[in-house]
Amino acid sequence: MAEAKAEAKKKQKVPGEVKCMYCDGTGKHQNQKCVVCGGAGKVEVVDTTQKCQWCKGRGFSMPGIPCTVCGGTGATRPVNKQRLF
Ligand SMILES: [Zn+2]
Ligand SMILES: [Zn+2]
Repeated sequence: MAEAKAEAKKKQKVPGEVKCMYCDGTGKHQNQKCVVCGGAGKVEVVDTTQKCQWCKGRGFSMPGIPCTVCGGTGATRPVNKQRLF
């Protein structure tokens, strides 16, 4: 019981690394390095459970244009990137 509790706490504390929704984790977008994750295929967000309401977690509002609200991450708030675009 105690161990499970500690683990849950740890998970909450660490900012989440999630798949980059803009390039779908490939690190590339239209044969170019993904502008959102820089080619990593992953992005860090404050809360992985919060989907961006604007793009509904897709990472873009229109094809080819990263969502300006979440910076293309698909989650509500990216870490260390207040305004990406
Ligand atoms: Zn990407
Ligand atoms: Zn968004």
